Amino acid sequence: MTGLSLPAPYPWPEGRGAAFCFSVDVDAHSPWLWANRSSMPRGLSHLEQRNFGPRLGLPRIAELLLRHNIHGSFFVPAVVAEEYPDILPSLLDGGHEVGLHGYFHELAGEITDEEFTQVLEASVELFERQTGARPKGFRSPAWEMTAHMLAEVRRLGFYDSSLMGLDTPYSINGVTEVPVQWSTDDAIFFKFLGGAGNDRWPPLDTNQVLAAWEEEFSAIHRFGGLFMLTVHDWISGRAPRIAMLERFLATVTGHADVWITTAGELATHHHTHVSKRDDLTVNVPASLLQHPVWRGQ
Ligand SMILES: [Zn+2]
Repeated sequence: MTGLSLPAPYPWPEGRGAAFCFSVDVDAHSPWLWANRSSMPRGLSHLEQRNFGPRLGLPRIAELLLRHNIHGSFFVPAVVAEEYPDILPSLLDGGHEVGLHGYFHELAGEITDEEFTQVLEASVELFERQTGARPKGFRSPAWEMTAHMLAEVRRLGFYDSSLMGLDTPYSINGVTEVPVQWSTDDAIFFKFLGGAGNDRWPPLDTNQVLAAWEEEFSAIHRFGGLFMLTVHDWISGRAPRIAMLERFLATVTGHADVWITTAGELATHHHTHVSKRDDLTVNVPASLLQHPVWRGQ
């Protein structure tokens, strides 16, 4: 992957020109649990805002997808599945994919390598217990990865969907990556918890975000990439955002040459048909700071 010549177009199946995936990070109350793990606050405001997700946001998103005949990829922290044991089986019944998203939504920078391995294995065990099947994919909480995390994801045979090194699927350190993108994530536009020291900006209005996503979709379509939409149960389950998604999905489904599919199907396609391409394969060393200049030699 060098030089300035454009790579060959990504080979989507059946001659499709681009791809679209509707992904949901079902965070619910898990980031609140992680952030407050050493001392639980007395206030209920954040907890209730987040509990809106499993109570109402998630059913609304599922109903929206059913109406548009779209199968989504839902990444669920294990502690959320534990508290709401119907979520994983119901999503699978609806034809959706369920994937891993940490146990307590633990952040990569706040745990040791050993702790990551421990919670990853515990999450897999819980998914298998609740669904009778092994998930195919992993998405890191807050989209941060380390070389150790990639190695563990590879060891257990999962694809990853946390990084954004290309706008089509690619391989990184032997792991199939189905990339995400901040500009197509709902949280950066709408997440607003309120309260002292928290988000200080008001959430954007839905028309602005719809216009931005339609522009992004049109451009990704032109360049033959993957549009990975990521929404959250407690953020996009709110009424005006569901109405906005309704309008956005009408645009997406109006393009017959776009492959609308799950992250798992994208990963399988890449692994089976595309993974030999050198320009879609990268390796990141465990340590990036071994240059002699850096070490003063
Ligand atoms: Zn998350």
